[in-house]
Amino acid sequence: MEIIKIFFKILWKTLSLYFMIVQKFASVLFSIISPALNKINRRLRFSISFKITAVYAFILSIILLILSILLSAAFQSFLTNGAEVDLTRTLTILKQASFVDSEDFYKAIKQESQEDNTNFSLFDKNKKLLYSTDGDKHRELNNNMDSINIETSSNIRIITLSSEMQKDNYAHYIQASKKLTSEQTYNQVFTIILLILDTTIVLITILVGNKSSKKILLPIDTMTKTVKHISIQALDTRLDVSGSQDELKDLAETFNEMIDRIQHSYEQQNQFVSDASHELRTPISVIQGYANLLDRWGKNDKDVLEESIFAIKIEAENMKDLVEKLLFLARADKNTQKIEKSDFHLNELIYEVIKETKLINSTHTILSKVNDEVLISADRKLIKQALRIFIDNSIKYTPVNGIIKLNSYKISKIMCIDIQDNGIGISSEDLPHIFDRFYRADKSRTKETGGTGLGLSIAKWIIYMHKGSIEVESKLNCGTKIIIKLPI
Ligand code: ATP
Ligand code: MG
Repeated sequence: MEIIKIFFKILWKTLSLYFMIVQKFASVLFSIISPALNKINRRLRFSISFKITAVYAFILSIILLILSILLSAAFQSFLTNGAEVDLTRTLTILKQASFVDSEDFYKAIKQESQEDNTNFSLFDKNKKLLYSTDGDKHRELNNNMDSINIETSSNIRIITLSSEMQKDNYAHYIQASKKLTSEQTYNQVFTIILLILDTTIVLITILVGNKSSKKILLPIDTMTKTVKHISIQALDTRLDVSGSQDELKDLAETFNEMIDRIQHSYEQQNQFVSDASHELRTPISVIQGYANLLDRWGKNDKDVLEESIFAIKIEAENMKDLVEKLLFLARADKNTQKIEKSDFHLNELIYEVIKETKLINSTHTILSKVNDEVLISADRKLIKQALRIFIDNSIKYTPVNGIIKLNSYKISKIMCIDIQDNGIGISSEDLPHIFDRFYRADKSRTKETGGTGLGLSIAKWIIYMHKGSIEVESKLNCGTKIIIKLPI
């Protein structure tokens, strides 16, 4: 027992050691092979046209190979069949012919043997060999009478046919065997021709296929070259889409559409930056102008001092306002402007806005007849900001003593807020653009009122972010009506 235990212990130790060595060896081998394989993989970069051609050439060669094997087998069977028919006919003729004596018969079969390349053997009643045309003294009779027997000896196929003659005066059995050497040679030549044909066809397919698939995929090369040249400085480059109607054309068109969009937003962004710089230049110049004035006269002249300080304060305020609006839009573009939704009564917010407006502005009459009580979920601060933008516009673009009406009402699940004034109105040419950044309908007038042209784009963003919509109805010199629709 003890010996068995020790034996198993030693065996277990040896096996674990062996597995450990194998594992170590495998991991070392893998660490050597893996980078090499990766390198080869990176080096072996096959083109699409090569891959397509290779797949088709492979399929074609398999089909041709199967066809060739079938054809070669059929040809061999045809040749063997012909040899069998010949052998049967010769044997029948020999069996039926009559001869003077056995010598005469031997002579006849000897001659036949030379002509036909067939060997004849004659046997007596006891199946003992009497005569063989090739002189083989050990030939034995095949007992399967009148049926063809095929055997292979040293790679040569031999067909044998034995039959009863019952002419005992010169032989009781006759056996003919024919080597299919020439048939085999014919078949080999036929197979070689087939293989040469197959290879030629496959080679032609590879050459033609590679050329034509390269031609078909040529637009990809052109696309790659064109795309390499597209940069921010050359955003107007487009892919050529004049070729045939196929997936590559779809790809090129889609790509061009994408570049269109990128170019559009890039131009918009550029425009925005240049407009913003332009807008900032004006207050800076004004401040600079007053600073110079102060420097020259303001130290002693109290009036100039007060006027300058007042103007600088106002311009600084304008600049702050502009920068805040720009920052808001930048946050909106970057999707970083926070929307903090909470439930609140919209009617209360509207009441608050009206109260505040009345406090600041006493030159216009602000009326609110309908103000339905409704609880909505939205960002209260942002909605208030949007309402202020619309009301500010109504005040700005309505002459003194004008009337501004602010009503809100519920239609099924939609809250409508109407802000109507009887001010200067907006012309039909300007109407489609009032929500564009920096757009101001009446430049000379806005100089007086001091707008930046950003208010409505901010308001539009706020309302759209709340899944609402804005409609504008306006008539020059009659007034403007803004209808805001917000889902409840
Ligand atoms: P701000 O950024 O200070 O609001 P702004 O008022 O000029 O400047 P928006 O509020 O975006 O800019 O308005 C764009 C333009 O639309 C205005 O310049 C003005 O011409 C026109 N507009 C807007 N509201 C009215 C209105 N109620 N009546 C007449 N014109 C209006
Ligand atoms: Mg405005």
